[in-house]
Amino acid sequence: MTRDPRYDILFEPVRIGPVTARNRFYQVPHCNGMGYRDASALAAMRGMKAQGGWAVVCTEMVEIHHGADVAPYVELRIWSDQDIPMLARIAEKIHAHDSLAGIELCHSGYTAVNLWSREIPMAASPMPAASFFNSPVQAREMDKEDIRNLRRAHRAAALRAKAAGFDLVYVYAGHGLGIFQQFLSRATNFRSDEYGGSLENRARLLREVIEDTKDAVGGSCAVPVRIAMNEFQGAAGLEPAEVEDAIAMMAELPDLWDLSLSSWSKDSQTSRFAEEGFQEPYIKGVKKLTSKPVVGVGRYTSPDSMVRVIRQGIMDMIGAARPSIADPFLPKKIEEGRLDDIRECIGCNICISNDFTMTPLRCTQNPTMGEEWRRGWHPETIRPKQKDAHVLVVGSGPAGLEAARALGQRGLTVTIADRAAEPGGRVARECRLPGLAAWSRVRDWRMLQIGKMPNVSLYLESDMTVETVAELGADNVLVATGATWRRDGTGSAQVRPIALAADADVLTPDDIMAGRMPRGRDVVIYDDDHYYMGGVLAELLRKHGFTVTLVTPAPLVSIFTKATLEQATIQSRLLELDVRIEANTLVKSIATAHATLGCSFTGKTREIAAASVVMVTARDPVDSLFHSLLKAGHSVSRAGDCFGPGTIAAAVHAGRKFAEEFGDPPVDFLDMPFRREVTALAAN
Ligand code: ADP
Ligand code: SF4
Repeated sequence: MTRDPRYDILFEPVRIGPVTARNRFYQVPHCNGMGYRDASALAAMRGMKAQGGWAVVCTEMVEIHHGADVAPYVELRIWSDQDIPMLARIAEKIHAHDSLAGIELCHSGYTAVNLWSREIPMAASPMPAASFFNSPVQAREMDKEDIRNLRRAHRAAALRAKAAGFDLVYVYAGHGLGIFQQFLSRATNFRSDEYGGSLENRARLLREVIEDTKDAVGGSCAVPVRIAMNEFQGAAGLEPAEVEDAIAMMAELPDLWDLSLSSWSKDSQTSRFAEEGFQEPYIKGVKKLTSKPVVGVGRYTSPDSMVRVIRQGIMDMIGAARPSIADPFLPKKIEEGRLDDIRECIGCNICISNDFTMTPLRCTQNPTMGEEWRRGWHPETIRPKQKDAHVLVVGSGPAGLEAARALGQRGLTVTIADRAAEPGGRVARECRLPGLAAWSRVRDWRMLQIGKMPNVSLYLESDMTVETVAELGADNVLVATGATWRRDGTGSAQVRPIALAADADVLTPDDIMAGRMPRGRDVVIYDDDHYYMGGVLAELLRKHGFTVTLVTPAPLVSIFTKATLEQATIQSRLLELDVRIEANTLVKSIATAHATLGCSFTGKTREIAAASVVMVTARDPVDSLFHSLLKAGHSVSRAGDCFGPGTIAAAVHAGRKFAEEFGDPPVDFLDMPFRREVTALAAN
C-alpha cells in the first residue's frame, strides 16, 4: 500500500539548526523507569522507535551531575565520561535507522532531592525540596558561584553528549523539573539579584545556558529548548502570555522550541480527563514568535489531526511520547497507508506508573514495550510457527484477544470462544464507565487485526465446558476467563471476609457494569482496590443521583493513580460532585441499612447510613474451567486475570507471553531467557 497524498506533509524533512529530521515525527523525551540500570534495554527501545519511523528520538531527562540526583527514580546520567559508552549505545541504535538522537540534559533544581549523593539540593530560591516521598530535605539558594558551576556542569555534559554521538542537545525548562524553568517562574524564583525580579532577569540563566550550549556543541548539534507554557497557578506562576514574552526575547537563539505544560500531570493528562490535542490552546501562539521549528504534544494518534495542526500553523513537528510507546511504528504505518494498523494509545498512563515504581516501562496497548531487548519481542513481528497446531482460546478479554492475535500472526490455527455476546471481556464493560471510552481501543485494534486473519475464528455466546472443549478437539487450550469482583470485603487492608447481614444490599462493580443499581439512596463505596474503579463508580453513581460516601483505608482516593498522575484530579472531581470521602477508614461490617466503619489507625468504630454498599476490593480468578480441563487431561494453560487478577496491561502482556512461548520445547522456568544488565565491578 502507498501513502495517502493528504499525509505527504507529515513526511517533509525539517531542518533543526545544523541537522535535518527526515520527517515531522518527533519522539519527545520521556521517562521509562529503565535509565542507567537497564541501559541496553533502553537503547533497544529507542532504536525500535527509530525503526518505526520517528525522525527524532530523544532520551529521558539525563542528570548532568551527581548534585542533581533524582534517586530513587532511575533516569539516565551523564555525570562523567564513564557514562559515555552507555549513552553512545542509545545514539547508535537510533542512528541505525537514520533517525536523529536527542538528549535531554537536566538539572532538576529543588526536585533533585539528592537522596543518593547526599549533596544539599540547590534551587533558584530556598524552599523545601519536592519529593514523592515528602522527604524532610530543603534546597538552598544558589549563589553566583553555584550558578557558574551549574553552567560549567551543563557545558561539560553537552560536550559529553556530543562525544556520545547525539544530534540534539536539550536545554530543559519543563515540567517544573528543569531548573531553568524554576528560575523563569515567579512561583519558584524570589531572588533580588540580576537572576530574579523582572522577566528578563528570571530568563537570564536560561539564555546564558542556551548560549553556552550553542557555543559548546552548536556547530554540529542542534540545541532545542523544552519549555513549560503554563504552570496553572494563575499570575503566581508561568502563564502562556509571559512564556510567550520569554520566547519572544530568545526567539532565534535555540534551534527548536519544544512546548509542554507543567507539572507533568498537566502535560501527560489521561483520556479520562483530556482529549487528543488538549494542549493546543496553550501553544498556538508560539509559532508566530519564531522562525525556528516548534514541537508540541497532545496524544496525537490521528494522522488527520496531525496534518491539521501543521496546516493551521500550531506546530512544525508532531511531538509524541505516549503515542510512540503504544505504537513505535505509527509513522511507518501512515507512510505505508496502513492506518487501521495503528495501535492507538488509550491514554491510561500505565506507562508513567512505571517511572514511579522505578521499573521498566510497559504499555497497555503495546505488550512488547520494554521487552525488546530483555525478551527479544518486537511490536510488529513475531517468529512464525514451527509446526501447525489448533489452539482454543477461551475468553476474549485483553488476555485472550492478544494471545489469539499473536498466535494467529505466528500462523497457528486459532479458535476464540466467549460466552458473552460481545468480545472484549472487561474492556467491553469498563469502556462504558465515565471517562474510559478510549479503553475500547484495546479490544478494537485486536478485533480489527484478527478480522484480517483467516486462521483465527471467533465464536461468541459460546459457553465453554469440559464437554464443549472436548468436542472442539483443539490440540491446546488457553483459558483466559478473567476474574470477578468479590462481594465479601476481602481486600488488601482486610484479607478475611467481613460480616454481612443476609439482607444487606451489597453490590460489586460487575453488578453495576451489568446495569444493576443500588437499592437505596445512601450508597457507600468501599474502595480497598485503590486504582480507578472506586472513583469511577463514585462518579457514575453521583450522576445517577445517589448520595455517595467513598470509604477507603488509604489516605487518598484512588491512591495508586498518583503513579498515573491522576490522583489529584480524581479527588477534586469527586469533591466537586459532593462525594463524601472517608479516608483512613475500613468498612468493618454491613447491616441492613448501615455499615460499621473503623478508623484504620485506632480501630475506633462508628456507624454510617448505608442502604447499599458497593465493594471495590479484590477479585477472584475465574479458573474452574482451567482446573476441570487439567483434571480431564487436556493440554491447557491459563493467562490474564484468571491466573492473577491485575491490570489490563498485565493481561495483554500475559496473552502475548503465551503466544511468544507457545510451541517451544518446554523450557524449565529456571532456564527461561530473561536478559538483564549486571553492574561491571570497578577494578577495586
Ligand atoms: P482478561 O482481563 O484476563 O483478559 P476478562 O475478564 O477481560 O479477562 O475476559 C474474560 C472473558 O472470558 C469474558 O469475556 C468472559 O465472558 C469469558 N469467559 C469466562 N468464562 C468462560 C467460559 N467458560 N466460556 C466462554 N467464555 C468465558
Ligand atoms: Fe498510552 Fe496507556 Fe500505553 Fe501509556 S500505557 S502509551 S497511556 S496506552
